Amino acid sequence: MTWHCPNCKQPLEPQQDAWRCASGHTFDRAREGYVNLLPVQKKRSREPGDSGEMLQARRRFLDSGHYQPLAEAICAMLGAGDVQQRDRHLLDIGCGEGYYSRALAASGWPEDRIAGVDIAKAGVRLAAKRQPRAQFAVASSFDIPLADSSVSGILRVFAPGPASELHRVLEPDGVLLDVSPGPEHLWSLKRALYREPRAHQAPAVLEGFELAAEMRCAFTLNLKGREVIADFLSMTPFAWKGDSEARAKLEQQEQLQLEADFLLRKLIGK
Ligand SMILES: [Zn+2]
Repeated sequence: MTWHCPNCKQPLEPQQDAWRCASGHTFDRAREGYVNLLPVQKKRSREPGDSGEMLQARRRFLDSGHYQPLAEAICAMLGAGDVQQRDRHLLDIGCGEGYYSRALAASGWPEDRIAGVDIAKAGVRLAAKRQPRAQFAVASSFDIPLADSSVSGILRVFAPGPASELHRVLEPDGVLLDVSPGPEHLWSLKRALYREPRAHQAPAVLEGFELAAEMRCAFTLNLKGREVIADFLSMTPFAWKGDSEARAKLEQQEQLQLEADFLLRKLIGK
């Protein structure tokens, strides 16, 4: 897997203290092991992406195992398979704090063949701390700092970004697992917060890819205790949208039962 320089697109040489390209662009390796490959001029705000506080809430929530059925479904569809025999690398795009990367490593993907990128430094830092042998970089999914055809698998859970970039970094026979919300995802939460809730529409298959397999993963979330409910709400878009009075009421509840619903699509490049 070859990382490339975000400034000049030449290969980056990962070294202990920093990653360098032939033109002399240097990116320091943080104490936690990740590298910030986001060109300064491309940062729209000082700290783009999810805030540290949101990521801590997300981490607490995921660590408690509420999304384990989704992690299992992802691992089943992105199976390590013949990974030992071939030099296969996996990219977790929009990796956040690394929950799914860790699940994939636990399911058989060698940790040193896993790479993750996210625009939020706070997330990448948390991810890198827990998987020291994987490679994590702060980078945009709109401009992935990897050479063409450098990974054989990509996991994308709710991350934005153009299909062309995913196509570019994926090997010709590589697999993209695209995870998006299913039609019933958090339906009762939406009903509580919005006057006219709408079901998620299945997104179109990404341009340049064809559908190899599709799976729906639906389960019930049983949230118990105000802290868990608050953590969960803060990691959904409902943290800042919808009726604030209704949200305050939800936060006072001791228990909340919600529908989790995800659509997993296994795509191959055309
Ligand atoms: Zn360079």
